[in-house]
Amino acid sequence: MKKKQFETEVIHGGYNTEDYHDSLVPPLFQTSTFTFSNAKQGERRFAGEEEGFIYSRLGNPTVKILEERLAILEGAEKALAFGSGMAAVSAVLFSLVKSGDHILCSKGVYGCTFGLLQLMEEKFNIQHDFSLMETEENVQNALRPNTACIYIETPINPTMKLVDLQMVAKVAREKGIPVVVDNTFCSPYLQKPIELGCDVVIHSATKYICGHGDVVAGLVAGSEDFLNKVARTTQKDIGGIISPFDAWLLLRGLKTLPVRMDRHCENAEKLAKALAAHPAVEQVIYPGDPSNQDYHIAVKQMRKPGGLISFTIKGSKEDAQTFMDRLKLIKIAVSLGDAETLIQHPATMTHSVVPKDDRTEMGISDTMLRLSVGLEAWEDIWQDLKQGLDKA
Ligand SMILES: *Cc1c(COP(=O)(O)O)cnc(C)c1O
Repeated sequence: MKKKQFETEVIHGGYNTEDYHDSLVPPLFQTSTFTFSNAKQGERRFAGEEEGFIYSRLGNPTVKILEERLAILEGAEKALAFGSGMAAVSAVLFSLVKSGDHILCSKGVYGCTFGLLQLMEEKFNIQHDFSLMETEENVQNALRPNTACIYIETPINPTMKLVDLQMVAKVAREKGIPVVVDNTFCSPYLQKPIELGCDVVIHSATKYICGHGDVVAGLVAGSEDFLNKVARTTQKDIGGIISPFDAWLLLRGLKTLPVRMDRHCENAEKLAKALAAHPAVEQVIYPGDPSNQDYHIAVKQMRKPGGLISFTIKGSKEDAQTFMDRLKLIKIAVSLGDAETLIQHPATMTHSVVPKDDRTEMGISDTMLRLSVGLEAWEDIWQDLKQGLDKA
């Protein structure tokens, strides 16, 4: 069958109505277990000699449709769903590395991923380093003989720095080291790491993939070999699986992903320009800004520059907080990718666990704010930002 466009696959991928009593929408299989028609059938299913479901931690039809749809969207052989983004991150990392190994990370990862890396170091002697990964040499020099995986976020939260995925994948391939990309900030609509030569893609599906702020979930896409191993080990036995209902909600959210992302990106572009022109704003960091140092990477690997903007305002930490308190339409909350525009203060919220010196080195100042641009009319979002800034 001819490959369909992304906008079609988000709606139809991985699902045939005829297989499910002609139900237009994938049914919700809200069940913990599946019955065998006789003892021998149970034996065959456990032995892997017969297809079929056994127990929902090992597989569920609603979840399977979601997994097949994501695999298509990421251009991967297979995908697996998890109960949170962090369940996905930990299942992948614990599957790839063992005691004594080393992980090379982009300089800046999600706060709880940072916490997980520390736990792995303290409890299991798995070391890690952070690198800006700005050049091939940069990456090569940061690799160690025991580096078992390269772990990348791009754009990096909240500094919005980008990593050239094709460049890192090339270096990694020469050494046979798998590259894992947390693609949460982009969704597969904006960036496809596997097509750029990377090996594993992770999503906090809580964000753009759900898009409606009502689910916490994770997804992983990659090769059949690797994901079969994850399914048999760190997914099945650690057990961070998704609930069928949450999978059903994600299937519903996914249908509008391209439409939503287009609007998120369009709004963000307008707001980034308006913010940059306001006298109370010191700096705007947005990958779609042609004067941004990583703009060439954005053009190369992202369909559009995304729906997140970081900016610093003139003044102190208290001025930043006072500004947030003046906002009315925009909600103060962590998370991102929702219909509602959200603002958060990384220094005291998502990155408060990072020591201040490390934060400063990463470029996270006390006056930096991160805006997850929602789907409201951009004029209304701007009016709210403007009234807050005008008083600053
Ligand atoms: C939110 C987030 C996570 C963690 O996902 P949960 O669904 O909250 O467990 C991981 N990576 C990034 C980039 C995120 O934004």
